[in-house]
Amino acid sequence: MTDSEISLKTAAARALMGRCPCCGKGKLMKSYLKQVENCSVCGESFGQIRADDAAPWLTIILVGHVFLPFAFMVNVRRPTVADASTRLQTRRTGAG
Ligand SMILES: [Zn+2]
Repeated sequence: MTDSEISLKTAAARALMGRCPCCGKGKLMKSYLKQVENCSVCGESFGQIRADDAAPWLTIILVGHVFLPFAFMVNVRRPTVADASTRLQTRRTGAG
């Protein structure tokens, strides 16, 4: 490996930090879901790389795991007055 070659581990770590995988200094994203066309420091081209729906899909997966338990908590059936009345009748008659 020469000095100009970058290991996959280093490139992936730089990209996960939002930095250019090539130089590690320039920004990789210009907004939350949009990448830059070229690195502002080293000029590496990223325009040909398309992630398509990967970023929104990953966001939905992560946010879904956070909010899904709350959705189940809200969807719990609460006892009604009719349920309480039925329970009281059952207790009085001894049936059930
Ligand atoms: Zn760069």
